[in-house]
Order: sequence, then structure tokens, then C-alpha cells
Amino acid sequence: MENKKRAVQASEVGMGTRVVWGGEQVQHPYNATQTPIVVSAAYGYDDIDKWYDVALGKEPGFIYSRMSNPTVSVLEDKLCELESAESAVAFSTGMAAISGVLHTFLSYGQRVISTRDSYGGTNKIFEEFLPRMGVEVTLCDTLDTVVLEQEIAKGCNVLYLETPTNPTLKIVDVRRLVAAAKQVGALVVADNTFATPLNQNPLALGVDVVVHSATKFLSGHGDVLGGVVCGAEHLMSQVRHYREINGASLDPFSAYLIIRGIKTLALRLRQQQASAQLLAEYLCTEPLVESVNYPGLPQHPGHDIACSQMNGFGAIVSFVLKGGMDTVTRLLPLLRYAHRAGNLGAVETIYGPARTTSHVENTLEERQALGISEGLVRVSVGIEDSADLLADLKQAFALVRSKQGDANLHADSAQRFIEVEA
Ligand SMILES: *Cc1c(COP(=O)(O)O)cnc(C)c1O
Repeated sequence: MENKKRAVQASEVGMGTRVVWGGEQVQHPYNATQTPIVVSAAYGYDDIDKWYDVALGKEPGFIYSRMSNPTVSVLEDKLCELESAESAVAFSTGMAAISGVLHTFLSYGQRVISTRDSYGGTNKIFEEFLPRMGVEVTLCDTLDTVVLEQEIAKGCNVLYLETPTNPTLKIVDVRRLVAAAKQVGALVVADNTFATPLNQNPLALGVDVVVHSATKFLSGHGDVLGGVVCGAEHLMSQVRHYREINGASLDPFSAYLIIRGIKTLALRLRQQQASAQLLAEYLCTEPLVESVNYPGLPQHPGHDIACSQMNGFGAIVSFVLKGGMDTVTRLLPLLRYAHRAGNLGAVETIYGPARTTSHVENTLEERQALGISEGLVRVSVGIEDSADLLADLKQAFALVRSKQGDANLHADSAQRFIEVEA
């Protein structure tokens, strides 16, 4: 399987081709056309000298699946193609990847700067775990680029970015912050989960290390957990070493599901973001909606930066309902083609309030401090027909607005929502 016939040249073909063929132009055993799931924990060698050379990395090959695995390697190669990266390292979850990167590149007495709107789990690493290890953490207002630049200029080892943010879809000016970080020699890490490699390539914007939760759009079917880190080999060798020893390796079954999912990423995303734009535009006209967050809307404060650093605006929309949680509780159960759940990036449309999804770990006071309204709903737009998703949302709003809808709802739908939440 290491006998690669021909690598897809990243610059040579489009993304729709790269998602399908990237990392997979490999000769498989039995002439299988699909990547085999290699479940072996270890790999045997009759030739002890060869075994030793493989162990030392002098010869390609596998020793033990915590270190590397043939199925996982194909996924890593595919991500290299998608992010135009020299090297990639897969992890058991997105959080394992993020935690692995932060622990690889930060030591006692060092400093990391990030934004307040990072993913909930990432935020917990910043607030709870890194300070315990003697790492100084500074979290700045996500959109206050001037303050971010001032903090970076004071010196830091790592700048950690995430854009668009979850769940309010704020856009961070990556090029500008990378420039500030380079002045002080800081390593820049970016979480590219929301954008996907199709919509944004942080390495091309000057970022050093890209992290992904493969659980979301990459795998795309809500049936697997995984994470991937990409970047230059001299950085990835350190991340790989951390994973080998700390052990959050991806299992080959999950790697296979993610590989399979990625093949349709371009097709899925094209449909998903066309619908996202349509839903966002409709939501702007809906009387029960106070505000809409989608970078594809010209009035979105980050629209121009998004246009300059992204190829598309993504499939996540969020909006604030008038009447707060009360309206959320009425609206969501009325949707016919939606999961009400905590994940995103799947083929099905998924709705969830911040209270039970991105900010489930925060208290009401913390959410208020972060500007997360109780009426905020996140939509991960699926691949269903756009017209059906739009009609579904419209009928739900119409029902909430009608008195009849109100009466029915109090009885059974509110009850149903409580079950969903539990
Ligand atoms: C889901 C998510 C993560 C964490 O990924 P897991 O696979 O759930 O561990 C990290 N960052 C972002 C932006 C996410 O959406």
C-alpha cells in the first residue's frame, strides 16, 4: 500500500477531484479499488534488520497502529491534498487534535493568545487545563483586531484562531493577525472545521498549523468522530510524536468512514451552502427573527474579510429569535426535516439552541457575557432540496405565529422538545 502509483498534484486538479482521489492513488492488496480497513495492532517482520530500519524511519512501513496505520495514513494523505500541506496527523477526535497541538507547542512559562469565541471544548483547554500547566492564556474579544495585535506585540508563543466562529459566525482577519504573529515569531494555529478545506486554506493565508474536527463536514454523516492536524513536516513530526506517546490515535474503522465521507464533500457543500444562503436571506425577512448571522449576507460585519479569505460562506447559519427560549421551544419541534441535536456538518439539517449545543457547558451568566442570547439557534444546513428546507422553516414560523399553533404547541411540542433535550 505504500507503493504509490502517482500522487495527485495539489495544484493540478480541482477540489472536486482532490476529495475523491487525494491520497488514494495507491495499489491496494487484491487490487481492491477501495482503501482496506487494516485492523492489525502490529506488523510483523521476518527480517529483523528491515524491522529495525522501519522502526527508525529509514524505510517506509508500519510497526504498531498507535504509531501509524495504513488506513489512517490514506486519510492523512488525503488531508495533505486538500489543505496543500506537507504532512498531516490524524487523531481520535477533533478535541484530541486540538489538545495535542496545544500540548505539543506550549510549555511551562509560555504564552498563548486566542479569541473568546473559540469552540467550547477549546475554550475549556484555555481556561481550565493550560493555566494549570503554567501556560499564560490571553483571550481577546474576537473582533477587536487592534487589541489582538497589541497583545501579540507583547510577545507570545502560539496564536490560536478559529474562523468562522461557533455559533455566531464571526470572521477573523487571518492575514492581518498572521502578520502580527510573525513579528514576534509566534506559531499560528487555525481551526478550519467550519470552513472546510474547500472554503478556506489557512496555510495559504500564512497559518502554520491547521486543525479539523473530522466529525463534522469532512466525514459529513454524523456517524464518526475524528480529528486531523496539517502543516509542514518539521511541525507535524512533533505532533505525531505527541500522539504516538499520548495515544489519541484514530482507529482504522473511523478513518475509513472519514475517507468515504470526504469523497462527497465538494458535492455536499455546494448544495448545503446554496441552501444556507437561501435560508439566511429568508430569515432576514421573518418578523419573529431579531438578527441573522451568515457571512454570505452583504450586511454581515465580516462579509468583506470572508470574501477575501474564503471561497464560500459555509453551511452554518445562526439566528436570534424574538422572545428568547420560549420561542425556541415553540419553533424547533415544528420542523419536519431537522434533527434537534448537538452536532453539525451532517447530510441532515440540524437545529440547536446555543444553550444545548455549542455553549452547553456555560452558565446563563457566562453565555450573556459572551453575547450568546437565549434565543440563538444554530442551523447546520443539510443536503436536502433547498425548496423543502425553506418551506419547512416557513411553515414552522407560520405555525408559531398563528394562535392555533400556540395552543397545540404548549401541549405536545414543548413536551417533545424536553425529551429531545434530555
Ligand atoms: C466539533 C468541533 C470541535 C471538536 O471536535 P470533536 O470531533 O467533537 O472532538 C472543534 N472545533 C470545532 C470548530 C468544532 O465544531
